[in-house]
Amino acid sequence: MDKNETHCDETYDWLQDRRHQTVLKTMHTIAYEFNPETGEEIVSPFIHQYLAGNYDGRLLSQVMVEDQVIHPDDLKKSLEFREAVKKGTADEIAIRLRTPEGPYRWFKMKISPYQPPTGSMRYIGTFTEIDNEIRQQEALRYRAEYDLVTDIYNKVTFYTVTGNWLGSEPDITRCLISFDIDRFKIINETHSLSEGDKVLRYIAKLLKQMTYSGETYARNNSDIFYVCLSRPKKEAAEFILELEHLLNQYPLDFQFTLSAGIVHLPHYNGEPLNVLCDWAAMAQNTVKGSYIHRYAFYEEAMSNDLNKEHYITKNMAHALENHEFQMYLQPKYDMRTHTIIGAEALSRWHHPKDGILPPGDFIPLFERNGFIIQMDEYIWDMACKTIRRWLDEGKNPITISVNVSRVHLHDPELCSKLISLTQKYNLPPHSIELEITESAYVDSPDALYDIMDKLQEAGFLFSMDDFGSGYSSLNALKDIPVDVVKIDLNFLQKARRGLQIGRDILEGVIQMIQAIQLPVIAEGVESKEQADFLLNAGCTHAQGYYYAKPMTVSDFEQLLSGKDTAV
Ligand code: C2E
Ligand code: CA
Ligand code: CA
Repeated sequence: MDKNETHCDETYDWLQDRRHQTVLKTMHTIAYEFNPETGEEIVSPFIHQYLAGNYDGRLLSQVMVEDQVIHPDDLKKSLEFREAVKKGTADEIAIRLRTPEGPYRWFKMKISPYQPPTGSMRYIGTFTEIDNEIRQQEALRYRAEYDLVTDIYNKVTFYTVTGNWLGSEPDITRCLISFDIDRFKIINETHSLSEGDKVLRYIAKLLKQMTYSGETYARNNSDIFYVCLSRPKKEAAEFILELEHLLNQYPLDFQFTLSAGIVHLPHYNGEPLNVLCDWAAMAQNTVKGSYIHRYAFYEEAMSNDLNKEHYITKNMAHALENHEFQMYLQPKYDMRTHTIIGAEALSRWHHPKDGILPPGDFIPLFERNGFIIQMDEYIWDMACKTIRRWLDEGKNPITISVNVSRVHLHDPELCSKLISLTQKYNLPPHSIELEITESAYVDSPDALYDIMDKLQEAGFLFSMDDFGSGYSSLNALKDIPVDVVKIDLNFLQKARRGLQIGRDILEGVIQMIQAIQLPVIAEGVESKEQADFLLNAGCTHAQGYYYAKPMTVSDFEQLLSGKDTAV
């Protein structure tokens, strides 16, 4: 130690020391010491084992530049680094250096000032090979930023890069697109996953070819891609059609059709990219599976719908506890005698802020999120409770029909729930009629027939709701053990071929239903003319605004007791 220190101010070549060399080599490191005052420099003697270049006595920095040891792309960076070291603002850098075998490898260069006890200040520098570390980091970064199947940006990078682009030039017209391939699953299933991947890579290649510099694209997941174009609306639409055209040149026995949603941004207002992509996806959903439309433009109404849905979803459970859902009753009439023969339970949401909401505003959403199960059970309970009260008050029991959403048909406890409900209120058979829409009978007949078997045995009646909406045939009707068929006049009135044909069909349909001896009721009866027509055609039961609208239970009771006048 003493010996070293006495030599420090001289050109003591400690780098010749074998022990130092062993330590440095195990650390894949070359060291040097430079005295800026005298210009003297010593270097690890084994430098040529690690680095290309002719170490012939020139300064290390000179050899590295003159013999092109430093990667051309890192040259500027390394010169700036030397200046920064002199100013004391940097001490470490990663650069690529040429190795004796030829290729460049990554090295960490570190420089520290060293003041020996006597003599002038030196710089001690080291080059440590960190090639593996850097390559691992790069691979990790690539994994984080790119989609590994297609080698294009992933969603997160798309958000960042596109966000920066939009933010830096907010006044350029752009279109943000989300698209996918219809029935892509079929390619994976009938060909192979690797064939599916090839198609995805082909799409990535087309996107690369079809976009201009600066425009961005990415694969989100599965077969969903995002593109951001600096083009007007019309050209964005053409882009999708052209992409589909080129995709169909891919050699595969498959008809490619795309579904795309386009958000037109005449200027950028700073919306987060995930929001813009959600908007594009919303528009995309409106054309999904359509054979006619390939793309749709996002409109504000779409997010209003979504916001409304979020709002409803957040409040629905509380609303149920808070008794905000109410059962309205719409009477069913015998048109010949004007007497009430039953009633349909229809729900209304008495919303504390938004007033009375019709079922169209919440039922479709509840069917999607499953809440329809709880809401319907609540309405069924109210229907049973109401009949029980009528019985207790000595009134003639009136059958109430309740709507059973198709969602319930997947509930394995449906039958036991309904049976225990009628037991709970001790109701006579046939008090409750279950209205199930026509399409459910056609789509899941086996599941439904099992349910019908059990529940009809327990006394429940079944009606086929919305008959005429276009799914079932009269032929199917004769095999389905329903108790009542409800024909919806609204469907027939919308018949494209005109009112007269609609009437002829209706007349024929009524006759045929009666031929197989099924009771029939017409709903949606709005005028005397319709009522007369139905009576003439042999249909005697009806429900509709002409007779009465859906009403609260107490209004219904008043109507029943004759205090209010029916038509
Ligand atoms: P739906 O079962 O076909 O019920 C008949 C619908 O037609 C009711 O609409 C009723 O108010 C309406 N309506 C009755 N008479 C006329 C008429 O003369 N003209 C016209 N244009 N319409 C008439 P509402 O109450 O808006 O219910 C709509 C649909 O929502 C129902 O159609 C039913 O599918 C569903 N729904 C209503 N309440 C419930 C419920 O508690 N549970 C379930 N699962 N679905 C329900
Ligand atoms: Ca109904
Ligand atoms: Ca109906």
